[in-house]
Amino acid sequence: MNYHHDYHAGNFADVLKHVILARVVTYMKQKPRPFRVIDTHGGAGRYDLAGTEATKTGEWRDGIARLFDAELPPAVAELLAPYLETVRAMNGAELRYYPGSPLIARHLMRPDDVLIANELHADDFARLKEELRRFKSTTVLNIDARHAVKSLLPPKERRGLVLIDPPFEERSEFADLATAVGEALSRFETGTYVIWYPLKDEAAADRFVATATSRAGLEFLDVRLAVMKSFAGLGLTASGVLVINPPYMLEAELETIMPVLKDQLAEGSGAAFELRSAVQ
Ligand code: SAM
Repeated sequence: MNYHHDYHAGNFADVLKHVILARVVTYMKQKPRPFRVIDTHGGAGRYDLAGTEATKTGEWRDGIARLFDAELPPAVAELLAPYLETVRAMNGAELRYYPGSPLIARHLMRPDDVLIANELHADDFARLKEELRRFKSTTVLNIDARHAVKSLLPPKERRGLVLIDPPFEERSEFADLATAVGEALSRFETGTYVIWYPLKDEAAADRFVATATSRAGLEFLDVRLAVMKSFAGLGLTASGVLVINPPYMLEAELETIMPVLKDQLAEGSGAAFELRSAVQ
């Protein structure tokens, strides 16, 4: 297990994933009944953008730094407010720290909404536990995500969001992920799932989305963002988020958000986004 999110925190892929996470959590708060967020690959919780790892890659400079002080069209500013206000709450006037998914979710959730954040890497788990120590209705686990899906579903509230954000270190990661999604849906059919995936091999990503959404009647939204035209040998330049059982308004919100997000995060020509919704 070599992956360390400190190198990538706040990059364009994090921004896309976290904007969607914040929209889904915001939607879930419309009903008074408590809900649960299960974050299977939680990471370390908070990242120092002036730290050695983040400085080495500088990825955040082409991600959150492009949005932190940006002048956005009012409709987009309103939709991004829950996400950007969470980032701002961690910082003074200058951008220095970036919240990971468990902190973004917790910041937006109400005290009685339950967060289960899981992280396998021992150091990141310890950091995450410390970051979440002061919150009630919050549990931090240190187990393999494969077991988390089996042991944590269905949630007792029967209302919930499962974020699955693997490191994609293994060749079998897409196939494993599709299997995990199938198992999760068998246990918690009505849950909303937010699943991040890299877009390096588009055919493999297409196969993953087709398999993960093959259940009859399943509703989903597949969002993809490329920050430049892809060239062989370049690092990650595009990623996707698959949302299963999306809130009904998410598609319209993303139609407003994505053109602006694409322009803000573009690195040269060839930036593009794709939004596909379907019922299988
Ligand atoms: N979700 C986080 C966020 O958005 O801020 C970032 C997560 S990062 C992409 C993936 C994390 O999964 C890493 O922190 C890594 O240590 C952890 N990880 C790797 N394999 C795992 C496994 N089998 N079970 C749980 N966590 C794992």
